[in-house]
Amino acid sequence: MDLKSQIHSLEDDIRRALSGIDTQEALERFRIDFLGKRGKLTFLVKQLGKLPKEERPEAGKAINRLKSWVEEALIQRREELKDLLHQKKLKQERVDISLPGRGVPLGREHPITLVSREITEIFVGMGFEVSEGPEVELDYYNFEALNIPKDHPARDMQDTFYVSDNVVLRTHTSPVQVRTMEKKRPPVRVITLGAVYRCDSDVTHTPMFHQVEGLLVDRGISMGDLKGILTRFVHMMFGKDIGVRFRPSFFPFTEPSAEVDIQCVICKGRGCRVCAQTGWLEILGCGMVDPTVYAFVDYDPEVYSGFAWGLGVERVAMLKYGINDLRSFFENDIRFLSQF
Ligand SMILES: [Zn+2]
Repeated sequence: MDLKSQIHSLEDDIRRALSGIDTQEALERFRIDFLGKRGKLTFLVKQLGKLPKEERPEAGKAINRLKSWVEEALIQRREELKDLLHQKKLKQERVDISLPGRGVPLGREHPITLVSREITEIFVGMGFEVSEGPEVELDYYNFEALNIPKDHPARDMQDTFYVSDNVVLRTHTSPVQVRTMEKKRPPVRVITLGAVYRCDSDVTHTPMFHQVEGLLVDRGISMGDLKGILTRFVHMMFGKDIGVRFRPSFFPFTEPSAEVDIQCVICKGRGCRVCAQTGWLEILGCGMVDPTVYAFVDYDPEVYSGFAWGLGVERVAMLKYGINDLRSFFENDIRFLSQF
């Protein structure tokens, strides 16, 4: 093949090779392949010397043209590739600002917290203030000052966690009432809300649960005030159409004592499994404060009288939300908790 044909065929090769190049690395390989020391074009230049003298200028021109064309094409392709790469990168890094953001799961308040707050708000609305006390309590406040001496049979009603002979985990929130009365002269209107502990665990009992207790002491407080305030509470909590009844009961620190039932919230009093076909559900315990308790806090029982009541927060939450297993509250199952 003469040099002219070699130049033409090389030009064709170069065109084909150039169009297939899609990376900077391939472009560099192409450059070495054609323009390098051992490149195909360099090889052609070396062939010039073998040509007859009169043919050299024309062939030389043709080769030079090809060479400058290749060099230009190389630069152009390099720019094109740079641009292509840039576009590709832009596409990959593209941010669609119209896409909705990824949701961050929000925490929710525990049903016990929700119900506790609702109960608190109802009583605060009726003029009660919130009082707090320790969960690790002296035997004196937890039992003795509440008319439950060491040998009293009522201690068997409450399975107590003893820290030492004289220190217990409080079995009810009542000790806070004694602590409050020690510090405050009547009129007293307080509620106490918090965790209490009993050594007991089954479907209807957990070793830790929550109580709300209330105390109202003033001049001339009667059982009628107790009934009025607690009936109002039940109506605000469960609806004003719900039936309420008071049954005589016994607690060591109140006399007389009563238990309060509400009409079954599930069957509306017709009778179902939850209310054991009675149509009624026990909701709280209450009574007029036993005058013996006033002796411990130096209130004159001839002047002052009052009432106290207590209820389980879990119990209220179960009835309000239709939950049938007490343990659900403490298992921390997100599927359960996220329903509230
Ligand atoms: Zn029922």
